[in-house]
Amino acid sequence: MAESQNQRLLSTALPALSSVGYDSTTADSFALLIVDDDPGLLRSLNDLLVLHGHRPEQALGGRQALAALERSAFDIVLLDLVMPEVSGQQILEFAAERGLNSKIIVVSGEHSFEAVHHALRCGAFGYVRKPYDPRELIATLDNALRQHRLERDNARMQTQLRDSESLHRFIVNSSPDLVYILDPEGRITFVNDRVEPMLGYRREELIGRHFHELVDANSLEAARDQFIERRTGRRASAQFEVRLRRRPVRDDLRATRSHLVWAEITSQGIYRDANERDAAGFLGSYGTARDVSARKEAEETISFQAYHDLLTHLPNRVLLKDRLSLAIAQAARNGRMLAVLFLDLDRFKVVNDTLGHSVGDRLLQAVAGRLSSSLRAGDTLARFGGDEFTLLLPDIRRREDAGLIADKILEQLKRSFTIDGHELFVGASIGIAIYPESGATEEALVQSADIAMYHVKARGKNGYQFFSEAMNESLSSRLALERELRKALSADELEIHYQPVVAASSGRITGVEALVRWRHPVRGLLEPDAFLPIALETGLLPQLDRRVQRQALKDLARWRTAGNAELRLAVNVSAHQLELEQFVPQLLADVAEAGLYPADVKLEITENLMLRDIDMVVPKLRALRAAGVRIAIDDFGTGYSSLSYLRQFPVDALKVDRSFVADIRADAGDPSILDAIVAMARGLKLELVAEGVENRLQLCRLVAMGCTELQGYVFSCPVNAARFSEFLQEQPFIALLAAVHEQP
Ligand code: C2E
Ligand code: MG
Ligand code: MG
Repeated sequence: MAESQNQRLLSTALPALSSVGYDSTTADSFALLIVDDDPGLLRSLNDLLVLHGHRPEQALGGRQALAALERSAFDIVLLDLVMPEVSGQQILEFAAERGLNSKIIVVSGEHSFEAVHHALRCGAFGYVRKPYDPRELIATLDNALRQHRLERDNARMQTQLRDSESLHRFIVNSSPDLVYILDPEGRITFVNDRVEPMLGYRREELIGRHFHELVDANSLEAARDQFIERRTGRRASAQFEVRLRRRPVRDDLRATRSHLVWAEITSQGIYRDANERDAAGFLGSYGTARDVSARKEAEETISFQAYHDLLTHLPNRVLLKDRLSLAIAQAARNGRMLAVLFLDLDRFKVVNDTLGHSVGDRLLQAVAGRLSSSLRAGDTLARFGGDEFTLLLPDIRRREDAGLIADKILEQLKRSFTIDGHELFVGASIGIAIYPESGATEEALVQSADIAMYHVKARGKNGYQFFSEAMNESLSSRLALERELRKALSADELEIHYQPVVAASSGRITGVEALVRWRHPVRGLLEPDAFLPIALETGLLPQLDRRVQRQALKDLARWRTAGNAELRLAVNVSAHQLELEQFVPQLLADVAEAGLYPADVKLEITENLMLRDIDMVVPKLRALRAAGVRIAIDDFGTGYSSLSYLRQFPVDALKVDRSFVADIRADAGDPSILDAIVAMARGLKLELVAEGVENRLQLCRLVAMGCTELQGYVFSCPVNAARFSEFLQEQPFIALLAAVHEQP
């Protein structure tokens, strides 16, 4: 837009440009008029002039002369004075009146002083007496011609000068750049019109003001060097970038950023003697300033994008690494400490998976905002991607200071975030690495903090821990395990062990709980505790759960066809599996595919899982129950559910945690918690299952309390499918229960 405007301005300037230095009339052609009322004299004068190379026009008498002068302009007129009708005198007056430029030479027989004087006063250039001496006449004519030529050239030069000055003024003023001149002290002596759109000042306002007033404080140093320093030799001209200040506008004084204009400045010293550019001859400087704000902004955006996380606008990994290496260098020099905190949000994946990425993104932004608002100026909070953040504390006095900050962060995350009407809670696991004890390089420190963070996760999340050397070893086994677990899932190294669930009334095996095992190629058979935390951490758990469930359903179908019509399967469900959108239809499809009914399956859900997100869990449990699936709360009593809370949940059974069962001892009465649980189950009309029953004493007490089903080593530990098939045939626990019932 501005470009095309400039183009237009230039094209209007071109005619002016073409007139400079050129003239359409050739240098030596003159318009010459000879006037006489005597035809003979007129002819002879004409002949004389033709002989000297002129081409005069002839006027016979004053009347013809007037007509000729009206019609066209003559450079030279040779004029007779005494003529009838219109005299030479009158023609002189006419020429004066009209302001004609013609040089008039009077050629007359009048010799009186008055006549000559009068003619010259009327503006005649010369006077030649008749009868004229041809040499005198030609000499006078040449004089007039020379004079005329001088005047003409002079006039032409004047217009040329005028034209050229207006052209330069035009070029300067229509330049897209600001053009300025400074005096030796740095005061403005000239600026072009461009200053107004660029900086908001009228040019007159700025004349005499010091350039300091226009330069942003941050750029002053650089500007001073470039403008004022008496530059000599090669450094006589310069190009540099500074920030200029726009004229402040009253109503948006606060928006300081928009008041700054990035300008690319050229500056050239002016010297008294162009060949001797020394300090003594320095007269000031001139140059241009171009508005490069748009380019600067683009550059800033690009560099911002390279160094920041676009979602949260926090520094990214690259920038953190940069600042960390700087902080390390400084700490090393001053013998001080610094801390790197590695922060991983707990439960973020759940939000992302269940409520969608846009809620997840906004949660991350909210977390970033809340965390950064509490940091000191020198601290750097960076996002490492996903739900991982890193915090650099570049200068701490004691390692405990980092612990205090971690506490502060955890405290801040206790308040919920409200996003899209959802009230969300996220905790954080924070690992802390201290320089120099936990590492000497950026990589080592970040890695140490990361390792410490994993230890927090493993211990049950939401907390912080300092890195220690001992962590290194356990981490490497953790990493190896993670890799192997992925392989295990595809290589089918998972096995299911089955533990019988025995009916308290009959001693028959009415149920079976499927418990996963991992047949590790090197480490042998692994229990769930050894690998479920990693499966959870890596997001493999839902996949693992479904695998176990499908296999167990197949095994159950086999046992059912072998004649165990009453056998039911209990499977464990993780929170992550339950949170899958497709969980309910998928499970029902798996049941149907195995040729079973939903009522043949019991889901074991831990108590805390239900506390997490009632709105999400309850509808799913309702749907499952409506289809016939039975729901049990596993490890009951270890969580926080109250009676009133429990009432909201669609459940069929409570599975008493084995720690309460273990509390049943010969030397004490029944544990009061167990009593309470029994009362609760009875009140809510729920089945009560006891697990972890290890001895006959416990068995007797639990049966007496009214437990409907029992599970534990007193019958059998979890066994493989083949062994379990034998149990089904043998039904070895009928006798045991009969004996229990027979006891007084
Ligand atoms: P759980 O569901 O409470 O399973 C009962 C655990 O108690 C099993 O441990 C079982 O071997 C153990 N147990 C059984 N009888 C006795 C006893 O008399 N005394 C003692 N001390 N323990 C007994 P296991 O197999 O190590 O499983 C541990 C936990 O891992 C399970 O607790 C369950 O929460 C989880 N788990 C097992 N398989 C799966 C699975 O496929 N998916 C999911 N999500 N979790 C599973
Ligand atoms: Mg269980
Ligand atoms: Mg349990």
